[in-house]
Order: sequence, then structure tokens, then C-alpha cells
Amino acid sequence: MNEKYDVIIVGTGVAGCFSALHLPRDKKILMITKAKLEESDSFLAQGGICVLKDENDYDSFFEDTMRAGHYENRKESVDIMIRSSREVIRELIDYGVEFNQEHGIYQYTREGAHSTNRIMFHEDITGKEITQKLLAQVKKCDNITIEEETTMIDILEKDGECFGVLIRTRDHELLPVQSPYVIWACGGIGGIYEHSTNFPHLTGDALVIALRHGIQLKNVNYVQIHPTTLYSKRKGRSFLISESVRGEGARLYNKDGERFVNELLPRDVVTKAIYQQMELDHTPHVWLSLDSIQNIDVRKRFPNIYQRCLEEGYDIT
Ligand SMILES: Cc1cc2nc3c(=O)[nH]c(=O)nc-3n(C[C@H](O)[C@H](O)[C@H](O)COP(=O)(O)OP(=O)(O)OC[C@H]3O[C@@H](n4cnc5c(N)ncnc54)[C@H](O)[C@@H]3O)c2cc1C
Repeated sequence: MNEKYDVIIVGTGVAGCFSALHLPRDKKILMITKAKLEESDSFLAQGGICVLKDENDYDSFFEDTMRAGHYENRKESVDIMIRSSREVIRELIDYGVEFNQEHGIYQYTREGAHSTNRIMFHEDITGKEITQKLLAQVKKCDNITIEEETTMIDILEKDGECFGVLIRTRDHELLPVQSPYVIWACGGIGGIYEHSTNFPHLTGDALVIALRHGIQLKNVNYVQIHPTTLYSKRKGRSFLISESVRGEGARLYNKDGERFVNELLPRDVVTKAIYQQMELDHTPHVWLSLDSIQNIDVRKRFPNIYQRCLEEGYDIT
């Protein structure tokens, strides 16, 4: 690691990698990550990415997204997300990412809040497929240096301008590294919750640094709570049961085997319903049954979930 770079990117998940790959090749770039490269939330994403399948779907896609965001979304951002989705998918495919196909045609699954199937996926490990392919591209670039187990402690600031990052190296040394551009691609704050699917080192460090330096933050109260993880007495990170399992038709049941919510409502609504049901039933979990899934071999569609559940004593077939 040198003392000066053209750009420093904090984070090596999809955001960090995608940024790095879009910068000019003549720029000297440093990418740092708090943990190992495989330990970003990007590796954990299961379900997939929503995409504008065709122009006719725009209005419905926009409305679904606004509804899921309680109409507090920034409309311009929703528009950018939808309009750029096909281009992003095309680029990912160019980088070697494989999405599920049947007879040479891309498949689309459904997730909560979406009124139609518009999610592209790779089995039930979409995030791993995307992130490892992006990282492979990043590693080919001579202009990019990656440092693992290297933590941003603070930014360097003078007269209201950021000119680098204060880093703690893997040997626990503090090192100021200068750069006119710093990109924060540090992920979320899920690691601070007692029960979370996220890596525990993702503790929202950039938010704290932002507060310390008077950088304005927006919508920090919006934390996405995913409705379904595998109930387990094992310690550590919770295992996600992808939204697409419900999207393909799985049903939620209370202790008496009765359905209590439409499983495809927005995530916050389903989460709340599950929580209320557990309180009502005095149970530490509800049940998810894949019995209602038709015409799909769940072992092929969700191989990772199938395997993990089996390890914990549940045969999802
Ligand atoms: C179980 C699970 C399933 C998901 N499924 C889906 C899905 O199906 N579809 C979907 O669209 N989204 C899904 N998501 C959300 C999605 O994974 C994330 O929104 C996305 O991966 C975030 O990417 P990122 O690059 O911003 O952050 P991350 O991938 O979390 O990367 C953050 C990076 O920042 C680094 N970092 C943080 N703080 C510091 C610091 N102080 N110093 C140095 N480095 C630091 C971390 O080490 C890491 O490298 C899922 C998330 C989880 C947890």
C-alpha cells in the first residue's frame, strides 16, 4: 500500500467492484475491505435482481417500487434504478455473470411487492455469482490494489474537503492514505442487530464518520428487515430463506397450520405480520411450507437452501 492514490474505494462488495470497473484504467485505485474479500453482504444475496423486462412494464414496476417504499421514495432514484436495470444486467452478463435460463431464454422469478415476475437470478446464490465474477474482473486490472482486513477509521479532512482516509492495517498500524477522491461503498448496518443475516463487521462505520464530519445523511431510519430466515438454535449469522421461495409459492402458517398473511406483500408488512403472529401464538417462530410450490423441483431451484435446511434437520421437499 502506498501513501497516495487517485481514488480510494472503501468496500469490495458489488458497489465497490462496479465503481472500480467504471473508473478510467489510468487512475491508480486502492480498494480496502474490513474483512476477507468473500465476507461482504454481496456474497450472501440469494433471490436476484429486478429488471425492466420490457417497456410496457415500466409503469407497473414504478408503482410497485413506490408502494413498497410507502411513497416516500425519491422518484428520480426509482426512475434511474428502473431505466438502468437492463444496461446493468447486460454489463454483468458481459463480465461473465450467468443468470438462469430455460431453453436459451432467461427466467424471471417473483418477489414480495412485485406484481409480476421480473427478478433475474442464479439458482439461489445470485450474489455470490455476481460478486465473484466482478472481483475476478477487478483482479485483472493492474491499476487496482486490493487490501483485505484493512479498515477505514476516519477520513482525512482539511477546510471541509476530504483528501484521503485514515486506515488501520491488518498489522494494526494507523496509516493516513491520501487521495482526491474517496468512494464509500461500505454497505449497511445489519451487523449491529442481535439477529441478522448480515456479516457482523458491517456496522455502519461510514455513517458514524459522516456524522462526525457533518456530512448530511438521508433516510437512515429505513432499514430493510427481511421477513424469513431459518429458525435455528445455532449461534451466529441467521440463514436467509430467500424471498423467491415465497415468490415461487411457499406459504406461511401459524402454530395451528393456518395462513395469516399474503406472503407477497412488501417485506415490512410481512415481517410485522410474522412478528404479531409469534406474539399471539407465544411461539419463537412461524412455519414456512413449500408444499404449495407447483411444477418446480425445489432441490434444483434452491440447492443452497435445500442443503442448509437438510443440515439442520428439515427436508424442504
Ligand atoms: C442474506 C442477504 C440476502 C440478500 N438478497 C438480495 C437479493 O436477492 N437481491 C438484492 O438486490 N439484494 C439482496 N441483498 C442485499 C444486497 O446483498 C446488498 O444490498 C448489497 O450486496 C450491498 O452491496 P454493497 O457493495 O453496498 O455492500 P456489501 O456487499 O455489504 O459490502 C460492504 C463492503 O464494505 C466494507 N467495509 C465496511 N465498513 C468498512 C470500513 N470501515 N473499512 C473498510 N471496509 C469497510 C466491507 O468489508 C465490505 O467489503 C441481500 C442481503 C443479504 C444480507
